[in-house]
Amino acid sequence: MKYYIIFGPPGAGKGTQAAPLAQNYNLKHISTGELLRAEIAEGSALGIQAKALIEKGQLVPDEVVEGMIARAFGKYRDVDGFLLDGFPRTLTQAMELDEMLEARDEGITAVISLMIPDEVVKERIAHRALLENRKDDASDAVVENRIATYHRQTEPLIEFYKEKGVYHEVDSLGSIEEVAANIRSLMDSL
Ligand code: ADP
Repeated sequence: MKYYIIFGPPGAGKGTQAAPLAQNYNLKHISTGELLRAEIAEGSALGIQAKALIEKGQLVPDEVVEGMIARAFGKYRDVDGFLLDGFPRTLTQAMELDEMLEARDEGITAVISLMIPDEVVKERIAHRALLENRKDDASDAVVENRIATYHRQTEPLIEFYKEKGVYHEVDSLGSIEEVAANIRSLMDSL
């Protein structure tokens, strides 16, 4: 099994790129953000807890998303691998993921890091807010908080994965097709 992580700040284009990529390479796309939004839509206990945190621009507890990933790994076997989108987002999650993979005698294939400046992130999220009904996109204060959360809690993972030799950067400033081509040429070169 291959285990890819699509990485980057909120609004970098992870979800947009992940869905067609997963199809191309026969990977199961797992987006923790989408799974959490599904829980919110269902009104489950987990969803109610997650909603309050997401709408403040904070992360949900590590155990919650770790459980989601573990269940997905167990569920999808008829694929060539997984494309993780929005996970891991903290060092604790990254270490837990390592343990899950070690237990299966597997490891991270590659971290694909979408590179984009904060200012562009803000523009893209403002645009998405007009298209999708996401409360966490609609308020400038929440978006600022998500970007700050990214720098504080998620960016340290770059060093973590660099040390493992699996970290790769891709320019995410171009059109959707250009970025997709950048990612495919990286994946094909691995
Ligand atoms: P974006 O990449 O635009 O921030 P996501 O859909 O990936 O959007 O995530 C939306 C929200 O869901 C995050 O801001 C966070 O509150 C929560 N979330 C998603 N994945 C995780 C995770 N791995 N750990 C903790 N919280 C998460």
